[in-house]
Amino acid sequence: KKILICCGTGCLANGSQAVVDEFISASLGMEVDILPDVKKVGCNGFCENGPIVTILPDHITYYKVHPKDVEDILGSLNGEPVERLLYKDDAGKPVLSREENPFYASQLKIALRNTGMIDPGNIDDYIGTGGYEALRKALSYHRKEVIKEIEISGLRGRGGAGFPTGKKWRSCFEVPGETKYMLCNGDEGDPGAFMDRSILEGDPHSVLEGLIIGAYAIGASQGYFYIRDEYGLALAHVQKALEEARARGYLGHNILNSGFSFDCEIVRGGGAFVCGESSALMASIEGKVGEPRVKYIRSVEKGLFEKPTVLNNVETLANVPYIIFHGGTEYAKLGTDGSKGTKVFSLVGKVNRTGLVEVPMGITLRDLVFQIGGGISENRKFKAVQTGGPSGGCIPEKLMDLEIDFDSLKDNGSMMGSGGIIVMDESTCMVELARYYVNFLAGESCGKCTPCREGLRCMLEILTRICEGNGEPSDLDLLEELSYTASLASLCELGRTAANPVMSTIKYFKDEYIEHIDNKR
Ligand code: SF4
Repeated sequence: KKILICCGTGCLANGSQAVVDEFISASLGMEVDILPDVKKVGCNGFCENGPIVTILPDHITYYKVHPKDVEDILGSLNGEPVERLLYKDDAGKPVLSREENPFYASQLKIALRNTGMIDPGNIDDYIGTGGYEALRKALSYHRKEVIKEIEISGLRGRGGAGFPTGKKWRSCFEVPGETKYMLCNGDEGDPGAFMDRSILEGDPHSVLEGLIIGAYAIGASQGYFYIRDEYGLALAHVQKALEEARARGYLGHNILNSGFSFDCEIVRGGGAFVCGESSALMASIEGKVGEPRVKYIRSVEKGLFEKPTVLNNVETLANVPYIIFHGGTEYAKLGTDGSKGTKVFSLVGKVNRTGLVEVPMGITLRDLVFQIGGGISENRKFKAVQTGGPSGGCIPEKLMDLEIDFDSLKDNGSMMGSGGIIVMDESTCMVELARYYVNFLAGESCGKCTPCREGLRCMLEILTRICEGNGEPSDLDLLEELSYTASLASLCELGRTAANPVMSTIKYFKDEYIEHIDNKR
Protein backbone atom coordinates (compact mmCIF):
# COMPACT_ATOMS: atom_id res chain seq x y z
CA LYS A 1 0.00 0.00 0.00
CA LYS A 2 1.02 3.59 -0.55
CA ILE A 3 0.18 6.37 1.88
CA LEU A 4 0.29 9.82 0.29
CA ILE A 5 0.44 12.66 2.79
CA CYS A 6 -0.21 16.14 1.47
CA CYS A 7 2.71 18.40 2.34
CA GLY A 8 1.79 21.47 0.33
CA THR A 9 2.07 24.77 2.19
CA GLY A 10 -1.59 24.63 3.30
CA CYS A 11 -1.38 21.14 4.79
CA LEU A 12 2.01 21.83 6.36
CA ALA A 13 0.42 24.83 8.07
CA ASN A 14 -2.26 22.44 9.35
CA GLY A 15 0.38 20.11 10.82
CA SER A 16 0.98 17.49 8.12
CA GLN A 17 4.70 17.09 8.97
CA ALA A 18 3.70 15.71 12.39
CA VAL A 19 1.39 13.26 10.59
CA VAL A 20 4.26 12.16 8.33
CA ASP A 21 6.52 11.66 11.35
CA GLU A 22 3.85 9.65 13.13
CA PHE A 23 3.25 7.41 10.08
CA ILE A 24 6.98 6.74 9.77
CA SER A 25 7.50 5.93 13.42
CA ALA A 26 4.27 3.89 13.72
CA SER A 27 5.05 1.81 10.64
CA LEU A 28 8.53 0.91 11.97
CA GLY A 29 7.03 -1.90 13.98
CA MET A 30 5.07 -3.38 11.06
CA GLU A 31 5.89 -6.61 9.23
CA VAL A 32 7.97 -5.96 6.12
CA ASP A 33 5.42 -7.52 3.77
CA ILE A 34 2.65 -5.14 4.90
CA LEU A 35 4.90 -2.10 5.40
CA PRO A 36 3.27 0.80 3.55
CA ASP A 37 5.24 3.17 1.36
CA VAL A 38 4.81 6.58 3.03
CA LYS A 39 5.21 9.52 0.64
CA LYS A 40 5.13 13.27 1.04
CA VAL A 41 3.18 14.74 -1.88
CA GLY A 42 2.21 18.21 -3.06
CA CYS A 43 -0.99 20.21 -2.70
CA ASN A 44 -4.30 18.35 -3.05
CA GLY A 45 -6.18 21.61 -3.48
CA PHE A 46 -8.67 21.12 -0.66
CA CYS A 47 -6.39 22.84 1.84
CA GLU A 48 -9.10 23.86 4.32
CA ASN A 49 -9.57 20.15 5.05
CA GLY A 50 -5.93 19.33 5.52
CA PRO A 51 -3.86 17.46 6.41
CA ILE A 52 -5.08 15.17 3.62
CA VAL A 53 -3.99 11.53 3.45
CA THR A 54 -4.70 9.23 0.50
CA ILE A 55 -4.35 5.45 0.50
CA LEU A 56 -3.43 3.74 -2.78
CA PRO A 57 -4.38 1.59 -4.59
CA ASP A 58 -7.71 1.84 -2.76
CA HIS A 59 -8.10 5.56 -3.50
CA ILE A 60 -9.45 6.30 -0.06
CA THR A 61 -8.87 9.88 1.03
CA TYR A 62 -8.92 11.06 4.63
CA TYR A 63 -9.23 14.68 5.72
CA LYS A 64 -8.18 16.70 8.77
CA VAL A 65 -5.89 13.87 9.82
CA HIS A 66 -4.20 14.27 13.19
CA PRO A 67 -1.17 12.27 14.41
CA LYS A 68 -3.50 10.47 16.85
CA ASP A 69 -5.48 9.11 13.84
CA VAL A 70 -2.44 7.39 12.34
CA GLU A 71 -2.79 4.17 14.33
CA ASP A 72 -6.41 3.76 13.18
CA ILE A 73 -5.48 4.38 9.55
CA LEU A 74 -2.66 1.84 9.65
CA GLY A 75 -4.96 -0.65 11.37
CA SER A 76 -7.58 -0.16 8.64
CA LEU A 77 -5.30 -0.75 5.65
CA ASN A 78 -6.69 -4.22 5.05
CA GLY A 79 -10.08 -3.67 6.59
CA GLU A 80 -12.85 -1.12 6.88
CA PRO A 81 -11.97 2.54 6.28
CA VAL A 82 -11.88 5.00 9.18
CA GLU A 83 -15.28 6.58 8.67
CA ARG A 84 -14.82 9.62 10.91
CA LEU A 85 -11.97 10.86 8.67
CA LEU A 86 -13.90 10.61 5.40
CA TYR A 87 -15.41 13.66 3.71
CA LYS A 88 -19.19 13.96 4.03
CA ASP A 89 -21.01 14.99 0.86
CA ASP A 90 -23.83 17.52 0.72
CA ALA A 91 -26.29 14.85 1.88
CA GLY A 92 -24.02 13.98 4.81
CA LYS A 93 -22.93 10.67 3.32
CA PRO A 94 -19.26 9.74 3.84
CA VAL A 95 -17.34 9.41 0.55
CA LEU A 96 -14.32 7.21 0.03
CA SER A 97 -12.65 8.47 -3.12
CA ARG A 98 -12.09 11.88 -4.60
CA GLU A 99 -14.29 10.97 -7.56
CA GLU A 100 -17.25 10.85 -5.15
CA ASN A 101 -16.25 14.05 -3.37
CA PRO A 102 -18.29 17.00 -4.73
CA PHE A 103 -15.22 19.25 -4.52
CA TYR A 104 -13.23 17.02 -6.88
CA ALA A 105 -15.95 15.20 -8.89
CA SER A 106 -16.26 17.64 -11.80
CA GLN A 107 -12.63 18.68 -11.91
CA LEU A 108 -10.38 17.71 -14.79
CA LYS A 109 -6.71 17.82 -13.98
CA ILE A 110 -4.08 18.51 -16.62
CA ALA A 111 -1.83 21.19 -15.15
CA LEU A 112 -2.45 19.64 -11.72
CA ARG A 113 -2.28 16.05 -13.01
CA ASN A 114 0.52 15.04 -10.67
CA THR A 115 0.20 17.45 -7.76
CA GLY A 116 -0.88 15.52 -4.72
CA MET A 117 -0.08 12.19 -6.37
CA ILE A 118 3.75 12.12 -6.61
CA ASP A 119 6.67 13.02 -4.42
CA PRO A 120 7.90 16.30 -5.94
CA GLY A 121 11.37 15.67 -4.55
CA ASN A 122 11.84 12.40 -6.41
CA ILE A 123 12.38 12.51 -10.18
CA ASP A 124 11.62 8.77 -10.41
CA ASP A 125 8.06 9.46 -9.29
CA TYR A 126 7.69 11.96 -12.12
CA ILE A 127 9.29 9.63 -14.64
CA GLY A 128 6.95 6.89 -13.41
CA THR A 129 3.96 8.96 -14.62
CA GLY A 130 5.46 9.29 -18.12
CA GLY A 131 7.46 12.36 -17.18
CA TYR A 132 10.11 13.55 -19.67
CA GLU A 133 8.60 11.37 -22.43
CA ALA A 134 7.17 14.53 -23.98
CA LEU A 135 10.66 16.03 -24.02
CA ARG A 136 12.01 12.89 -25.69
CA LYS A 137 9.23 13.15 -28.28
CA ALA A 138 9.79 16.89 -28.83
CA LEU A 139 13.51 16.37 -29.39
CA SER A 140 12.69 13.87 -32.14
CA TYR A 141 10.62 16.58 -33.90
CA HIS A 142 11.79 19.57 -35.86
CA ARG A 143 11.42 22.76 -33.80
CA LYS A 144 8.68 23.98 -36.15
CA GLU A 145 6.68 20.78 -35.53
CA VAL A 146 6.80 21.38 -31.77
CA ILE A 147 5.54 24.93 -32.27
CA LYS A 148 2.84 23.69 -34.64
CA GLU A 149 1.61 21.22 -32.02
CA ILE A 150 1.29 24.01 -29.44
CA GLU A 151 -0.52 26.17 -32.01
CA ILE A 152 -2.95 23.34 -32.79
CA SER A 153 -3.66 22.93 -29.07
CA GLY A 154 -4.90 26.53 -28.87
CA LEU A 155 -3.05 26.98 -25.56
CA ARG A 156 -3.22 30.57 -24.33
CA GLY A 157 -0.99 32.04 -21.62
CA ARG A 158 -2.40 31.34 -18.17
CA GLY A 159 -0.66 34.28 -16.50
CA GLY A 160 -3.42 36.71 -17.34
CA ALA A 161 -3.19 38.14 -20.84
CA GLY A 162 -4.21 34.92 -22.60
CA PHE A 163 -1.82 35.45 -25.50
CA PRO A 164 -1.55 32.36 -27.76
CA THR A 165 1.52 30.43 -26.60
CA GLY A 166 2.29 28.89 -30.01
CA LYS A 167 2.21 32.31 -31.66
CA LYS A 168 4.63 33.67 -29.06
CA TRP A 169 7.00 30.73 -29.56
CA ARG A 170 6.82 31.08 -33.37
CA SER A 171 7.55 34.82 -33.25
CA CYS A 172 10.65 34.19 -31.13
CA PHE A 173 11.74 31.22 -33.27
CA GLU A 174 11.58 33.40 -36.39
CA VAL A 175 13.75 36.17 -34.93
CA PRO A 176 17.34 35.50 -35.94
CA GLY A 177 19.87 35.33 -33.11
CA GLU A 178 22.43 33.06 -31.53
CA THR A 179 21.33 33.83 -27.98
CA LYS A 180 17.72 33.47 -26.86
CA TYR A 181 16.14 33.05 -23.45
CA MET A 182 13.26 30.96 -22.13
CA LEU A 183 11.75 32.18 -18.86
CA CYS A 184 9.21 30.91 -16.39
CA ASN A 185 7.11 33.48 -14.54
CA GLY A 186 6.52 32.23 -11.00
CA ASP A 187 5.94 35.69 -9.54
CA GLU A 188 2.36 35.05 -8.53
CA GLY A 189 1.20 38.13 -6.63
CA ASP A 190 -2.59 38.30 -6.72
CA PRO A 191 -4.14 38.29 -3.24
CA GLY A 192 -5.84 34.92 -2.71
CA ALA A 193 -4.10 33.17 -5.63
CA PHE A 194 -1.91 30.11 -5.12
CA MET A 195 -2.15 28.16 -8.38
CA ASP A 196 1.45 28.59 -9.46
CA ARG A 197 2.83 28.06 -5.99
CA SER A 198 1.02 24.73 -5.70
CA ILE A 199 2.24 23.50 -9.10
CA LEU A 200 5.85 24.50 -8.41
CA GLU A 201 5.69 22.88 -4.98
CA GLY A 202 3.88 19.73 -6.03
CA ASP A 203 5.10 19.01 -9.55
CA PRO A 204 8.17 21.10 -10.42
CA HIS A 205 9.36 18.68 -13.11
CA SER A 206 6.28 19.23 -15.29
CA VAL A 207 7.00 22.97 -15.38
CA LEU A 208 10.69 22.32 -16.01
CA GLU A 209 9.90 19.86 -18.78
CA GLY A 210 7.60 22.47 -20.39
CA LEU A 211 10.36 25.05 -20.11
CA ILE A 212 12.94 22.76 -21.75
CA ILE A 213 10.52 21.93 -24.59
CA GLY A 214 9.88 25.65 -25.10
CA ALA A 215 13.61 26.36 -25.11
CA TYR A 216 14.14 23.69 -27.73
CA ALA A 217 11.31 25.10 -29.87
CA ILE A 218 12.59 28.68 -29.90
CA GLY A 219 16.31 27.78 -29.86
CA ALA A 220 17.23 29.04 -26.38
CA SER A 221 20.21 27.72 -24.49
CA GLN A 222 19.63 29.52 -21.19
CA GLY A 223 16.55 29.94 -19.04
CA TYR A 224 15.42 31.32 -15.71
CA PHE A 225 12.72 30.53 -13.20
CA TYR A 226 11.59 33.82 -11.63
CA ILE A 227 9.97 32.80 -8.35
CA ARG A 228 8.90 35.07 -5.54
CA ASP A 229 11.06 34.83 -2.47
CA GLU A 230 8.10 34.14 -0.16
CA TYR A 231 7.58 30.78 -1.90
CA GLY A 232 10.23 28.95 0.10
CA LEU A 233 8.96 25.44 -0.56
CA ALA A 234 8.49 26.08 -4.28
CA LEU A 235 12.03 27.46 -4.49
CA ALA A 236 13.46 24.41 -2.72
CA HIS A 237 11.53 21.95 -4.89
CA VAL A 238 12.44 23.66 -8.17
CA GLN A 239 16.11 23.75 -7.10
CA LYS A 240 15.99 20.01 -6.36
CA ALA A 241 14.24 19.36 -9.69
CA LEU A 242 16.96 21.24 -11.59
CA GLU A 243 19.67 19.19 -9.89
CA GLU A 244 17.89 15.88 -10.49
CA ALA A 245 17.11 16.71 -14.14
CA ARG A 246 20.74 17.73 -14.74
CA ALA A 247 22.00 14.49 -13.17
CA ARG A 248 19.67 12.42 -15.42
CA GLY A 249 20.60 14.21 -18.65
CA TYR A 250 17.29 16.09 -19.12
CA LEU A 251 18.98 19.44 -18.55
CA GLY A 252 22.41 20.76 -19.42
CA HIS A 253 24.76 19.82 -22.20
CA ASN A 254 23.55 17.59 -25.07
CA ILE A 255 20.15 16.71 -23.57
CA LEU A 256 19.28 13.03 -24.15
CA ASN A 257 22.10 12.90 -26.74
CA SER A 258 20.04 15.10 -29.05
CA GLY A 259 22.73 17.72 -29.61
CA PHE A 260 20.47 20.30 -27.90
CA SER A 261 21.88 22.02 -24.82
CA PHE A 262 19.94 24.11 -22.34
CA ASP A 263 20.37 25.01 -18.72
CA CYS A 264 18.54 27.25 -16.32
CA GLU A 265 18.72 28.78 -12.90
CA ILE A 266 16.42 30.39 -10.36
CA VAL A 267 16.08 34.11 -9.69
CA ARG A 268 14.23 35.10 -6.53
CA GLY A 269 11.68 37.91 -6.87
CA GLY A 270 11.65 40.47 -4.08
CA GLY A 271 7.86 40.67 -3.76
CA ALA A 272 6.98 43.65 -5.97
CA PHE A 273 3.62 42.91 -7.60
CA VAL A 274 4.63 44.76 -10.77
CA CYS A 275 7.55 42.34 -11.31
CA GLY A 276 5.00 39.85 -12.63
CA GLU A 277 4.78 42.15 -15.68
CA SER A 278 7.04 40.81 -18.38
CA SER A 279 9.39 43.74 -18.97
CA ALA A 280 9.64 44.50 -15.23
CA LEU A 281 10.43 40.84 -14.57
CA MET A 282 13.21 40.87 -17.16
CA ALA A 283 14.64 44.11 -15.75
CA SER A 284 14.63 42.46 -12.33
CA ILE A 285 16.52 39.40 -13.62
CA GLU A 286 19.08 41.79 -15.14
CA GLY A 287 19.60 43.27 -11.68
CA LYS A 288 17.85 46.55 -12.50
CA VAL A 289 14.86 48.16 -10.78
CA GLY A 290 11.80 46.07 -11.65
CA GLU A 291 9.90 48.65 -13.70
CA PRO A 292 7.92 48.05 -16.91
CA ARG A 293 9.20 49.56 -20.12
CA VAL A 294 7.25 50.81 -23.12
CA LYS A 295 5.80 47.99 -25.15
CA TYR A 296 6.55 48.96 -28.73
CA ILE A 297 9.61 46.74 -28.27
CA ARG A 298 8.40 43.14 -28.22
CA SER A 299 10.29 40.86 -25.85
CA VAL A 300 10.28 38.04 -28.43
CA GLU A 301 12.64 40.35 -30.37
CA LYS A 302 14.41 42.23 -27.58
CA GLY A 303 13.71 40.85 -24.16
CA LEU A 304 16.12 39.75 -21.45
CA PHE A 305 19.54 41.36 -21.96
CA GLU A 306 18.11 42.72 -25.26
CA LYS A 307 17.92 39.21 -26.70
CA PRO A 308 14.87 37.38 -28.08
CA THR A 309 12.97 35.99 -25.11
CA VAL A 310 9.87 33.97 -24.35
CA LEU A 311 8.24 34.34 -20.95
CA ASN A 312 5.57 31.82 -19.99
CA ASN A 313 3.72 31.44 -16.75
CA VAL A 314 3.99 28.32 -14.52
CA GLU A 315 0.57 26.89 -15.38
CA THR A 316 1.10 27.46 -19.12
CA LEU A 317 4.33 25.48 -19.01
CA ALA A 318 2.78 22.68 -16.94
CA ASN A 319 0.33 22.12 -19.83
CA VAL A 320 3.09 21.83 -22.45
CA PRO A 321 4.33 18.25 -21.74
CA TYR A 322 0.71 17.02 -21.76
CA ILE A 323 0.09 18.67 -25.15
CA ILE A 324 3.26 17.31 -26.75
CA PHE A 325 2.66 13.83 -25.33
CA HIS A 326 -1.05 13.58 -26.25
CA GLY A 327 -1.03 15.90 -29.26
CA GLY A 328 -2.43 19.39 -29.77
CA THR A 329 -5.64 18.05 -31.32
CA GLU A 330 -6.49 16.06 -28.21
CA TYR A 331 -5.96 19.09 -25.98
CA ALA A 332 -8.03 21.31 -28.28
CA LYS A 333 -11.05 19.04 -27.74
CA LEU A 334 -11.39 20.61 -24.29
CA GLY A 335 -12.67 24.09 -23.56
CA THR A 336 -14.45 26.71 -25.64
CA ASP A 337 -13.87 27.91 -29.21
CA GLY A 338 -11.52 30.69 -28.15
CA SER A 339 -10.06 29.21 -24.96
CA LYS A 340 -8.90 25.62 -25.09
CA GLY A 341 -7.99 23.21 -22.34
CA THR A 342 -8.50 23.63 -18.62
CA LYS A 343 -7.86 26.41 -16.13
CA VAL A 344 -6.73 26.26 -12.53
CA PHE A 345 -8.61 28.58 -10.20
CA SER A 346 -8.16 29.41 -6.56
CA LEU A 347 -11.71 29.46 -5.29
CA VAL A 348 -11.84 31.48 -2.07
CA GLY A 349 -14.09 33.81 -0.13
CA LYS A 350 -17.61 33.25 1.24
CA VAL A 351 -18.08 29.80 -0.19
CA ASN A 352 -18.53 26.48 1.62
CA ARG A 353 -15.66 24.65 -0.10
CA THR A 354 -12.55 26.67 -0.87
CA GLY A 355 -9.38 25.54 -2.57
CA LEU A 356 -7.56 24.94 -5.80
CA VAL A 357 -9.68 23.62 -8.66
CA GLU A 358 -8.93 22.74 -12.26
CA VAL A 359 -11.86 22.66 -14.66
CA PRO A 360 -12.37 22.76 -18.43
CA MET A 361 -12.65 26.27 -19.86
CA GLY A 362 -16.32 27.09 -20.38
CA ILE A 363 -17.59 25.92 -17.00
CA THR A 364 -20.19 28.36 -15.68
CA LEU A 365 -19.57 30.53 -12.66
CA ARG A 366 -22.65 28.92 -11.15
CA ASP A 367 -21.16 25.43 -11.37
CA LEU A 368 -17.89 26.66 -9.97
CA VAL A 369 -19.46 28.41 -6.98
CA PHE A 370 -22.42 26.14 -6.23
CA GLN A 371 -21.42 22.68 -7.43
CA ILE A 372 -17.69 22.62 -6.66
CA GLY A 373 -17.75 25.33 -4.01
CA GLY A 374 -20.93 23.99 -2.37
CA GLY A 375 -22.67 27.38 -2.33
CA ILE A 376 -22.44 30.33 0.00
CA SER A 377 -21.33 29.81 3.56
CA GLU A 378 -23.59 30.43 6.57
CA ASN A 379 -26.66 30.19 4.29
CA ARG A 380 -26.20 33.76 3.18
CA LYS A 381 -27.19 35.04 -0.26
CA PHE A 382 -24.73 35.18 -3.12
CA LYS A 383 -23.79 38.66 -4.28
CA ALA A 384 -20.87 38.59 -6.74
CA VAL A 385 -17.62 36.96 -7.74
CA GLN A 386 -14.45 38.88 -8.29
CA THR A 387 -12.29 37.25 -10.93
CA GLY A 388 -8.83 37.98 -12.21
CA GLY A 389 -7.04 39.22 -9.11
CA PRO A 390 -6.82 42.84 -7.97
CA SER A 391 -7.16 44.17 -11.52
CA GLY A 392 -10.16 41.99 -12.26
CA GLY A 393 -13.79 42.92 -12.06
CA CYS A 394 -16.90 41.85 -10.18
CA ILE A 395 -19.50 39.67 -11.84
CA PRO A 396 -23.04 39.90 -10.40
CA GLU A 397 -25.68 37.22 -9.86
CA LYS A 398 -27.40 37.85 -13.21
CA LEU A 399 -24.25 36.70 -15.03
CA MET A 400 -23.74 33.50 -13.05
CA ASP A 401 -24.48 31.35 -16.09
CA LEU A 402 -21.63 32.94 -17.98
CA GLU A 403 -19.29 30.31 -19.39
CA ILE A 404 -15.88 31.26 -18.13
CA ASP A 405 -13.13 31.82 -20.66
CA PHE A 406 -10.66 34.56 -21.51
CA ASP A 407 -13.07 36.43 -23.80
CA SER A 408 -16.37 36.10 -21.92
CA LEU A 409 -14.89 37.56 -18.74
CA LYS A 410 -13.30 40.44 -20.63
CA ASP A 411 -16.55 41.17 -22.48
CA ASN A 412 -18.28 41.51 -19.13
CA GLY A 413 -15.86 43.93 -17.51
CA SER A 414 -13.60 41.45 -15.74
CA MET A 415 -10.73 39.22 -16.78
CA MET A 416 -9.30 35.74 -16.31
CA GLY A 417 -6.11 37.07 -14.76
CA SER A 418 -4.13 34.24 -13.31
CA GLY A 419 -7.29 32.53 -11.97
CA GLY A 420 -8.29 34.03 -8.64
CA ILE A 421 -12.02 33.65 -7.90
CA ILE A 422 -13.23 35.46 -4.80
CA VAL A 423 -16.85 34.85 -3.83
CA MET A 424 -18.80 37.53 -2.02
CA ASP A 425 -22.06 37.24 -0.10
CA GLU A 426 -24.81 39.74 0.63
CA SER A 427 -22.83 41.23 3.52
CA THR A 428 -20.02 42.51 1.28
CA CYS A 429 -19.96 46.24 0.58
CA MET A 430 -18.93 46.59 -3.06
CA VAL A 431 -17.64 50.16 -2.60
CA GLU A 432 -15.43 48.99 0.24
CA LEU A 433 -14.27 46.13 -1.98
CA ALA A 434 -13.31 48.53 -4.79
CA ARG A 435 -11.42 50.64 -2.25
CA TYR A 436 -9.54 47.54 -1.01
CA TYR A 437 -8.26 46.67 -4.48
CA VAL A 438 -7.44 50.25 -5.45
CA ASN A 439 -5.54 50.60 -2.19
CA PHE A 440 -3.58 47.42 -2.99
CA LEU A 441 -2.75 48.58 -6.52
CA ALA A 442 -1.89 52.13 -5.48
CA GLY A 443 0.67 50.60 -3.12
CA GLU A 444 2.04 48.34 -5.85
CA SER A 445 2.17 50.93 -8.65
CA CYS A 446 5.81 51.47 -9.55
CA GLY A 447 5.13 55.17 -10.03
CA LYS A 448 6.75 55.45 -13.43
CA CYS A 449 3.76 56.92 -15.25
CA THR A 450 1.31 59.59 -14.13
CA PRO A 451 -2.11 58.09 -15.07
CA CYS A 452 -1.44 55.07 -12.87
CA ARG A 453 0.52 56.71 -10.05
CA GLU A 454 -1.65 59.81 -9.61
CA GLY A 455 -4.84 58.28 -10.99
CA LEU A 456 -4.85 55.47 -8.43
CA ARG A 457 -3.99 57.87 -5.61
CA CYS A 458 -6.92 60.11 -6.56
CA MET A 459 -9.29 57.14 -6.98
CA LEU A 460 -8.32 55.91 -3.54
CA GLU A 461 -9.01 59.35 -2.02
CA ILE A 462 -12.44 59.50 -3.64
CA LEU A 463 -13.37 55.94 -2.67
CA THR A 464 -12.23 56.58 0.89
CA ARG A 465 -14.38 59.68 1.24
CA ILE A 466 -17.39 57.84 -0.21
CA CYS A 467 -16.86 54.96 2.23
CA GLU A 468 -16.47 57.38 5.12
CA GLY A 469 -19.73 59.15 4.30
CA ASN A 470 -18.23 62.27 2.75
CA GLY A 471 -18.88 61.49 -0.92
CA GLU A 472 -20.51 63.84 -3.41
CA PRO A 473 -22.68 62.89 -6.44
CA SER A 474 -19.98 64.28 -8.75
CA ASP A 475 -17.52 61.70 -7.34
CA LEU A 476 -18.96 59.00 -9.58
CA ASP A 477 -18.17 61.03 -12.72
CA LEU A 478 -14.70 61.74 -11.39
CA LEU A 479 -14.09 58.05 -10.73
CA GLU A 480 -15.24 57.15 -14.23
CA GLU A 481 -13.01 59.81 -15.80
CA LEU A 482 -9.96 58.73 -13.84
CA SER A 483 -10.64 55.08 -14.64
CA TYR A 484 -10.97 55.85 -18.33
CA THR A 485 -7.71 57.82 -18.40
CA ALA A 486 -5.77 55.16 -16.47
CA SER A 487 -7.06 52.42 -18.74
CA LEU A 488 -6.03 54.30 -21.88
CA ALA A 489 -2.85 56.11 -20.94
CA SER A 490 -0.98 53.90 -18.46
CA LEU A 491 2.27 52.35 -19.53
CA CYS A 492 1.65 48.76 -18.43
CA GLU A 493 -1.22 46.40 -17.71
CA LEU A 494 -1.16 47.14 -13.98
CA GLY A 495 -2.31 50.70 -14.63
CA ARG A 496 -4.44 49.84 -17.66
CA THR A 497 -6.51 47.31 -15.75
CA ALA A 498 -6.34 48.87 -12.27
CA ALA A 499 -9.72 50.54 -12.63
CA ASN A 500 -11.57 47.29 -13.38
CA PRO A 501 -12.79 46.80 -9.80
CA VAL A 502 -14.07 50.40 -9.77
CA MET A 503 -15.65 50.30 -13.22
CA SER A 504 -17.31 46.92 -12.72
CA THR A 505 -18.71 47.79 -9.29
CA ILE A 506 -20.05 51.10 -10.62
CA LYS A 507 -21.55 49.23 -13.58
CA TYR A 508 -23.25 46.47 -11.61
CA PHE A 509 -23.62 47.93 -8.10
CA LYS A 510 -24.10 51.66 -8.68
CA ASP A 511 -26.97 51.71 -6.20
CA GLU A 512 -24.50 50.94 -3.40
CA TYR A 513 -22.35 53.94 -4.33
CA ILE A 514 -25.46 56.15 -4.49
CA GLU A 515 -26.67 54.81 -1.17
CA HIS A 516 -23.34 55.69 0.44
CA ILE A 517 -23.42 59.18 -1.05
CA ASP A 518 -27.12 59.86 -0.36
CA ASN A 519 -27.14 58.51 3.15
CA LYS A 520 -23.68 59.86 3.87
CA ARG A 521 -22.86 56.62 5.65
FE1 SF4 B 1 4.33 51.64 -13.20
FE2 SF4 B 1 1.65 51.80 -13.07
FE3 SF4 B 1 2.92 52.94 -15.06
FE4 SF4 B 1 2.81 50.26 -14.91
S1 SF4 B 1 1.10 51.64 -15.25
S2 SF4 B 1 4.58 51.53 -15.41
S3 SF4 B 1 2.90 50.01 -12.65
S4 SF4 B 1 3.12 53.49 -12.88
